[in-house]
Amino acid sequence: MSWFLPRLLLALLAVLLGFTVGAAVRAITGIDALGLGFGVAVGVGLPLVVDALRGYRLLEWLRGKQLENAPRDTGLWGELGYRIERAVRDRENIIGRERLALEQFLSAIEASPNGVLMLDAQEHILWCNRVAADHFALDPKRDLRQRITNLVRAPAFVAYLQAGRYVEPLVLGNGRGPGTLSIVVREYGEGRRLVLSLDITERVRNDAMRRDFVANVSHEIRTPLTVLAGFIETLQTLPLTAVERERVMVLMNQQTQRMQTLVADLLALSQLEGSPRPGSDRWVSLDALLIRVGVDAEALSAGRHTLRVQPHTGMEIAGVESELLSAVANLVSNAVRYTPEGGGIDVAWRLLEDGSGELTVIDNGPGIAREHIPRLTERFYRVDGSRSRETGGTGLGLSIVKHVMQRHGGELLIQSEVGKGSRFRLVLPAARVRPSSDAALGDEAAFNAATVASDY
Ligand code: ADP
Repeated sequence: MSWFLPRLLLALLAVLLGFTVGAAVRAITGIDALGLGFGVAVGVGLPLVVDALRGYRLLEWLRGKQLENAPRDTGLWGELGYRIERAVRDRENIIGRERLALEQFLSAIEASPNGVLMLDAQEHILWCNRVAADHFALDPKRDLRQRITNLVRAPAFVAYLQAGRYVEPLVLGNGRGPGTLSIVVREYGEGRRLVLSLDITERVRNDAMRRDFVANVSHEIRTPLTVLAGFIETLQTLPLTAVERERVMVLMNQQTQRMQTLVADLLALSQLEGSPRPGSDRWVSLDALLIRVGVDAEALSAGRHTLRVQPHTGMEIAGVESELLSAVANLVSNAVRYTPEGGGIDVAWRLLEDGSGELTVIDNGPGIAREHIPRLTERFYRVDGSRSRETGGTGLGLSIVKHVMQRHGGELLIQSEVGKGSRFRLVLPAARVRPSSDAALGDEAAFNAATVASDY
């Protein structure tokens, strides 16, 4: 009732002023009616004018954005303005809080690794996050309110959306590239739909790789097994001479060894994949390692090649000795196996400017065509399958080398030219390379290596 007193005062003031003006007019003109008319006009008109002015100011404020306070008048209009302003501010606060909650909710959906797309009953896009925009090649702003089926035209998607049976997810090629999406639709509200998309490219690729791997392993094992089964049948059914029997035994032994090598390589690979990354505190003498590789290569070559292994590096490398040995041995064994008789093979070490080290195995063998090079480290990938198998290859060697290098923070680099030869480089990071701490061992290793090298 705080507005009542000012209002009463204004009424009294108006009456008083009306009375005074009426009396004055009557005194000046001497006409009673004129004095009465002026008195009433002023008495009634004054509150009306004041009301009109205050009402107008409040209306103007309401018409605007209500950024400032409502007009602070006294009396009824002041109270009215204050009450309206409070209601407006309360509403603004509620809207502000709801908007914040909505923004937080949307940014949570935005952060989701899945695509989220909301459609109305007519399949118009109401909202979509960036992941969904990327999956379906949409523009999150420009394409709002557009019909999704006009923008994503893949027939499988359109049919799935319109069929209305969303029990099984739809597997679809990614709109942007060669990837694969898994799409799920859920209905909500009045005919609205939530479309969830998940990029399953990696999963599909892994599944395919697993299938290929199992198929490859089965194939690799089945071939020698079939040969062995054939020989066993021959031994059981045919009367063989001692020489023939001996020959069959040699061949059976070859096939058994082939399977053993395959199983050993498979185990090596699975161990590499399953074990933690080797620490860089176990130091291996590079010279000692090169000597062992050189001796094995010499035995494998049996004098058919010119082998040159750098005699003295005086270096140590950090990692798992058996893994590093297997990486270098695989490269040298490949060079020996693929380089024809009379060819040359060089194994050399050098320190690079950034402190990293590089071990290179070079041969002047047949070389490898450019298109095969990126695929050489895939499991069971062979350029020349028959040559690989003939020489006891499993198709897993370079895959093992690549894994070993990755685990040691290094890399395998391959350069090759058909008809000229190949260069395989193992690069180890600076943190895994240091000069040999034991000078005596270094000298001894150098001596041994030199002895081996001079034998080549
Ligand atoms: P494999 O056991 O068949 O040798 P790898 O993984 O070691 O398997 O090598 C993959 C393929 O790369 C080989 O089958 C061969 O065709 C090719 N390759 C590897 N090293 C050489 C090389 N030094 N010269 C020519 N070809 C090579």
